[in-house]
Amino acid sequence: MRKPLIAGNWKLHKTINEAKDLAKTLCTKLADVHNTDIVLAPSFTAISAVAEICQESTIKVGGQNCFPEPQGAFTGEVSAAQLNDAGCTYVILGHSERRQLFGEDDAFINAKIHAVLRAGMSAILCVGETLEQREQGDLFEVLGAQVRNGLKDVNDTQMEHVVIAYEPIWAIGTGKTASSDDAAEVHAYIRGLLQGVFSPAVAQNTRIIYGGSVKPDNISELMAQADIDGALVGGASLNAADFAAIANFPRPLHMADTHR
Ligand code: PEP
Repeated sequence: MRKPLIAGNWKLHKTINEAKDLAKTLCTKLADVHNTDIVLAPSFTAISAVAEICQESTIKVGGQNCFPEPQGAFTGEVSAAQLNDAGCTYVILGHSERRQLFGEDDAFINAKIHAVLRAGMSAILCVGETLEQREQGDLFEVLGAQVRNGLKDVNDTQMEHVVIAYEPIWAIGTGKTASSDDAAEVHAYIRGLLQGVFSPAVAQNTRIIYGGSVKPDNISELMAQADIDGALVGGASLNAADFAAIANFPRPLHMADTHR
């Protein structure tokens, strides 16, 4: 059974003190949530402060990106091991903002995935199509390439530490959410793809989460879909009440007693 995962991507928001306040409030509000993995991904500057606050809780901390090399002359970059040292156990990779604004391609993202796995952390690989690609009928081809190339040379055992986040680009920060049926169709497609690329066990065990304008009022419908294992939340993760409501989503029947 797959344990649900709700991750908050704080993007380029919050000073260290603001991040600490939000983390403290969430640790209190989510103290009773044990059957869902919760990950907070602050800006690099706030990671260690947030990790210190979360260490007595079940909340985990993630990075929003990293560089594939372990060290060297790479001004402005941060390594997977440095993130781990600061308190991260997850790293978000291949977010559409990284792909679109910073030109990251699948090969570069794949190198980062391997760096994160080598550092003993879990990777959240983001994939998603533009509206144009969807309208042209290229949805599955685009997603297939992102999944296959992003996970190149990752083995079945390593897949235990990989989460896939399906984030249709047209739904990120726009207030538009994919309908739960559309999201469910894509999640089922990705699970089928994992079966072909890896094995039925990997397909069954890999968490595939949804991202794109997730809010307290649409989380239940999304989580009711059998192949949706959680959410990557941007805007709504900056508000403690909203993120807590999302992380406390009413558990659908098929998720009764999921532990991992
Ligand atoms: C995201 O950035 O990953 C995201 C899903 O953002 P939002 O929830 O604001 O659409």
